[in-house]
Amino acid sequence: MTKPINKTVVDLEPSGIRRFFNIANDIPNVLSLGVGEPDFNTPWKASMAGINSIKNGQTFYTANAGMIELRRAIHDYLEARFQLDYHPETEIIVTIGASEAIDLACRTLITPGDEVLCLDPSYVSYAPTISMAGGVPVPVPLRSEFDFAIQPEDIEALVTEKTKAIILNYPNNPTGAIITPEQTKRIVEVIKKHDLYVITDEIYSELWYSASPYLSIAAAKDMKERTIYINGFAKAFSMTGWRLGYVCAPDWITEQMLKIHQYVIMAAPTAAQYAGIVALNECMNEVEMMREDYNKRRHFLMKEFSRIGLGCFEPKGAFYCFPDVRPFEMSSEQFAMDLLDAEKLAVVPGSAFGDQGEGFLRISYAYSIRQLEKAIERLERFIITL
Ligand code: PMP
Repeated sequence: MTKPINKTVVDLEPSGIRRFFNIANDIPNVLSLGVGEPDFNTPWKASMAGINSIKNGQTFYTANAGMIELRRAIHDYLEARFQLDYHPETEIIVTIGASEAIDLACRTLITPGDEVLCLDPSYVSYAPTISMAGGVPVPVPLRSEFDFAIQPEDIEALVTEKTKAIILNYPNNPTGAIITPEQTKRIVEVIKKHDLYVITDEIYSELWYSASPYLSIAAAKDMKERTIYINGFAKAFSMTGWRLGYVCAPDWITEQMLKIHQYVIMAAPTAAQYAGIVALNECMNEVEMMREDYNKRRHFLMKEFSRIGLGCFEPKGAFYCFPDVRPFEMSSEQFAMDLLDAEKLAVVPGSAFGDQGEGFLRISYAYSIRQLEKAIERLERFIITL
């Protein structure tokens, strides 16, 4: 063939995490703290609901926007947990994970050429998803001196006439950062001033260890009208493989998103939707139990990092730490490669998440304390050699 295929796609870099793990996976006895995936089983009641739905022959398409029982459960959950009020009939679409929700949000808001602000460092899919929708990703630097909470001045400095939206993600992957209600209120002012849309990916909202109350930007005063809210079952309910998430927005936006979802996806998997209803209605104790366990691991890592001389700000959300390796005077990629070579311990170089991630490592604590203990032993031995 001589005709070129889509240049935007050809120009996308494959995910830096995958590249690194393709190397790590080939090494025998490697211990990995790299994957951002819960290590718990899906709550059994939720799994049973999925299994029973198949046994009962409920193996057909649902409504495009998802089963109304599930949308009602999502409504009740969001209202009770985060003071969000989205109408189950018109303002909620059930998606194939938060991933599809991010894509729907980008494709619905972006007209080719629009600029979209996204965090740097950030979860790896935002910038490519913006590009694939014809937009231009504009990274907003997150600074370690502010514990990676986004600052209004940094947004202000990058807004142009072409800026359409900003994608936020707190609690944050890869840093584990949160933003407090006070910080949220400060960025809301800039967002309103420049009339921006907000896409807020709150997939880690159940993993919050701060005494500060949780304020979703979608629940901040007058923000619902300009916000697309994204959440899902993967992290809170340990359901990554079920591929279930949801997107909420004012009805005039969901009406447009639903067209894309209808043509491209049709509907989220039916068995997963049955599992999702039971997860929301009956499995909050399990969510609490998992949160407590992650919190113990978080404390363990913070204590051990300080003992072995690895600087790290205290992450108050998600299940990631983002220790600072700049004092070792090597790139984060070099640090991660040497650590893998010397100790067979895999962590992700911060540079995989954007330029501002350089000098840091992402360490996931979605691993048992036993694995974390072994990892710390290896990390300590490695640091001593530097
Ligand atoms: N957003 C963030 C910030 C994530 O970390 C992930 C998964 N690593 C996703 C979205 C994707 O979630 P899902 O599995 O629901 O598509």
